[in-house]
Amino acid sequence: MNLSLQHISVCYDNADGTQLEAVRDVSLEVEGGQAVALIGPSGCGKSTLLRIACGLLTPTSGSVRIGGEELAGPRSATALILQDFGLLPWKTVYKNAELGLRIRGVSKDECKKRTMHALSQVGLADMANRYPKELSGGMQQRLALARALALDVDLLLMDEPLSALDALLRESLQETLLKLWHENRHAHVLVTHSIEEAVYLGQRIVVFSPRPASVAAVIDNPHMGEEGFRTSQAYFECCTEVREALNRVVATDARSEASQEGRLA
Ligand code: ADP
Ligand code: MG
Repeated sequence: MNLSLQHISVCYDNADGTQLEAVRDVSLEVEGGQAVALIGPSGCGKSTLLRIACGLLTPTSGSVRIGGEELAGPRSATALILQDFGLLPWKTVYKNAELGLRIRGVSKDECKKRTMHALSQVGLADMANRYPKELSGGMQQRLALARALALDVDLLLMDEPLSALDALLRESLQETLLKLWHENRHAHVLVTHSIEEAVYLGQRIVVFSPRPASVAAVIDNPHMGEEGFRTSQAYFECCTEVREALNRVVATDARSEASQEGRLA
């Protein structure tokens, strides 16, 4: 599995007939099994790019290929995980986790095997008969992850999945995401607004400009995933590099805003 975004541009049609340019000429390659983090100013077009990568949205121009084939719509081996979990409150933890499999018509026995394996991977096996409201926010996000893992995905797309969690839970879920990535060898693409999270979970960190999103910097992070990485020099250096790249894009934006205001005045 190799995800290839080539020269992607997206313009949304507003209700009033005007257009909004969200993404401009973005190219991005994600090899099978790779971990990539996307970071950029709020509203720049990151979620738009993820929707493109999972086939929910067609770009205005450019192409999306997975394993060399043009993507024509959502595919079963790609999962998209959002910040708001998307759980069904009236179904048990088990039923929520197996949902995607049932929809795909997998046999009951196979469903059970894969669902229980996924629940145990995220540490929720003994909560199978509980309901989502009985789970903490962190557990709910683990459940959303289990649902994706049960599907045996090779591409996991995540849109700020940990943003709603407090700092301690975030770190523990980051550990889980890293463990799952090591164990399952899927590729993951993580959108985050946390520099630390991007560096902890990305072998490569792509920094976007303010809207329309374009690639402002690509930072390699070769030590990601190594034992003790979070307290290493390499980790701190990479955080600094990402922070500086982000500061540059924001500063450039502020300058161009100021000059536009100057023109208008
Ligand atoms: P991000 O995830 O980086 O915060 P988004 O991709 O959600 O950014 O949005 C990028 C821009 O596109 C924003 O200005 C947003 O308001 C706009 N946008 C997103 N979805 C739509 C839509 N369906 N129709 C019109 N504009 C949209
Ligand atoms: Mg977003």
